[in-house]
Amino acid sequence: MVADAEHRIAATLIDRGSFLLSRPFEPIQFTGDPEADALLNNLSQYPHAFVTACVMHRQVRAESAWIIPYKIAQRRGSFEFSLLSTLGLKDVLDLMAGPPPLHRFPETMAKNLHSALARIAGEYHGNASEIWAECPSSATIVRRFLEFDGVGPKIATMAANFLVRDFKIAVSDKVSIEISPDVHVRRVFTRLGLISEGASNEVLIYRAREMHPLYPGILDPASWEIGRSWCAPQRPDCEECYMARFCPTAPTKEAARRGDSE
Ligand code: SF4
Repeated sequence: MVADAEHRIAATLIDRGSFLLSRPFEPIQFTGDPEADALLNNLSQYPHAFVTACVMHRQVRAESAWIIPYKIAQRRGSFEFSLLSTLGLKDVLDLMAGPPPLHRFPETMAKNLHSALARIAGEYHGNASEIWAECPSSATIVRRFLEFDGVGPKIATMAANFLVRDFKIAVSDKVSIEISPDVHVRRVFTRLGLISEGASNEVLIYRAREMHPLYPGILDPASWEIGRSWCAPQRPDCEECYMARFCPTAPTKEAARRGDSE
């Protein structure tokens, strides 16, 4: 792809992304269960719910991980940190083991959860929101999540992305807010000619960094929206898509007319 075309694609995605991200906060539908989502969205009262749910993201569907704090609250009658911090490892293991178990790997995740609660108590004075308090850099937030047992770069950057992009947490820079390699974003990047068919997630991530080094994640919302609204896996609606004028995959008007008449 020629640099000029790439530049215009990047500028359009960034403009639209800026608009989408400037909208006021709306509660996030993490699980589809209103009560579980209310707990996770309540960052001021239960910041440890969001943090511990992130720790649970390991080889299970996202919804199954997000709902674990709510299920623990149901089993213990509360998700107050003052109560959770009194639990020993055996208590946490019993909670995770069920029946039914709350996670595919109840023993490992019980250890990670117990250790996360101890880290929040010790490092953050029992208030998990200290992880993102006082306008830290985006890298600081990612690094602080990486320090929790069982959390790798993918989950740490996911957590930072939610905090900055969705919860509108103030940060001093957005360099470490990455694009999320979701299925819609991958398809749109491929069809726009920004990555090759079958490119790895790393290629996608570095492509976004190349296009906007100071805030790679800004390319995410517009790409996701295009993927959900027009760029369907089968029969993309290129006539309605605002990227059609730049997109190498979109049929030209003449080709579209020929297709219509065939
Ligand atoms: S113009 Fe068509 S192929 Fe290109 S991004 Fe839009 S919907 Fe997808």
